[in-house]
Amino acid sequence: MPLNIPYWEKNHAEDAAAVFDVVQKLAEGPIRAHAVELDRTAEFPRALYRQLGAAGCLAPRLPVDLGGIGLPTYDYCRMIMMVAQESGTIGNAIVSAGIAANYLYAYGDGKFDDVIRGYADGSLVPAMALTEPTSGSDLRSLRTSATPVGGGYRINGEKIWITKGGVCDRVMVLARLPGESSDGLIGLLVDTASEGFSRGKNEDLMGMRGLATASLFFNDVFVPESQVVGVPGGGFRQTVQALSFGRILVASLAIGLARGALRRAVDYTHERKQFGKRIWDFQNTKFRVGEFAARLLAVESLLARACSEYDLGRDPVAEASSAKLLASDIAMEASTFAVQAHGGIGFSRHLDVERFMRDSKITQIYEGTNEIQRSIIARAVVSD
Ligand SMILES: Cc1cc2nc3c(=O)[nH]c(=O)nc-3n(C[C@H](O)[C@H](O)[C@H](O)COP(=O)(O)OP(=O)(O)OC[C@H]3O[C@@H](n4cnc5c(N)ncnc54)[C@H](O)[C@@H]3O)c2cc1C
Repeated sequence: MPLNIPYWEKNHAEDAAAVFDVVQKLAEGPIRAHAVELDRTAEFPRALYRQLGAAGCLAPRLPVDLGGIGLPTYDYCRMIMMVAQESGTIGNAIVSAGIAANYLYAYGDGKFDDVIRGYADGSLVPAMALTEPTSGSDLRSLRTSATPVGGGYRINGEKIWITKGGVCDRVMVLARLPGESSDGLIGLLVDTASEGFSRGKNEDLMGMRGLATASLFFNDVFVPESQVVGVPGGGFRQTVQALSFGRILVASLAIGLARGALRRAVDYTHERKQFGKRIWDFQNTKFRVGEFAARLLAVESLLARACSEYDLGRDPVAEASSAKLLASDIAMEASTFAVQAHGGIGFSRHLDVERFMRDSKITQIYEGTNEIQRSIIARAVVSD
């Protein structure tokens, strides 16, 4: 009994249908086949990652000459939703690649085109390093230092919880310039083969397992001037701007997880009988599914609005944060409902519905926690 919540079908690029077809085949083929094993072993799926790159999934919004397919942002979101219905981890791998590629494209002044092509085809694994042991939500308080030296900068400090940190080839590091105000940050692209760079062991996470999330250590790492991303001192501003795009992608990831969890709940409740009836036939089940479908339809419209604004070159702060906030809450609630609707087996690993509940949780935390989203939205809509 398939769940059929219609996607927003307007404004797709002409060739998007063919791309969706490829992504659907990937999602129902190798991604579905690897999802459970990936969650169990938590090993970064290199071969599958290259396959995603070959299919154009890792940076689809970028122009063709940079390895992208020039898709509008909403089409990109739809790809993420399709993938996340099978594997949150692979959806997350696509999201983090897209955020990293987009950052270099937006602020790199064309200096990093070869790196971007590597990100797009999966031959180079990217990471973005903002968070530190004493600086999470409060990005301005970060301590990793970038000291100007002849021909470049020396980085010292530690970053934590970095997605793909354990396997990345390049990492965009946000660091503090000496003597600058709290906004005086710089973005530096670090080659992880550099002397003085090292990684911690991969974190044992509750969900989104298999993305080599790790701490990164910088001990006098030299970064040449040519690897400055954007304007020295402008790192905070450009990163905050880039977060809107990241929140749009995380909202899509959360919507995909919610859709995947609900589909499993609908399938199971049509099979399972108690008191002589299918679980689906109890009104409570239909009410819950109907409510989640309504919320998903609403948040997808909001997401489409955020994407349109973004593609017009505006920074849709309130729309992107609202979509991320609402979608991640729906994902968490829908996946919890899906486990509940399965009864005892939902709490076991005989089925994979519990994975959606574990994967959903992080969408309320990263790319700015949902408490921070509420503050951002309030600031965006109230001028005082
Ligand atoms: C799996 C995973 C992947 C990640 N990937 C990356 C990555 O690739 N790159 C990267 O840089 N970071 C990454 N992060 C870090 C993530 O972005 C941070 O964990 C997140 O921003 C929250 O920061 P924190 O953990 O320090 O929590 P804290 O900032 O310490 O917050 C703790 C709690 O206090 C609340 N709180 C904080 N400030 C306020 C406030 N002003 N008002 C109300 N409540 C508040 C928060 O909402 C939260 O509930 C990742 C984290 C995880 C777990």
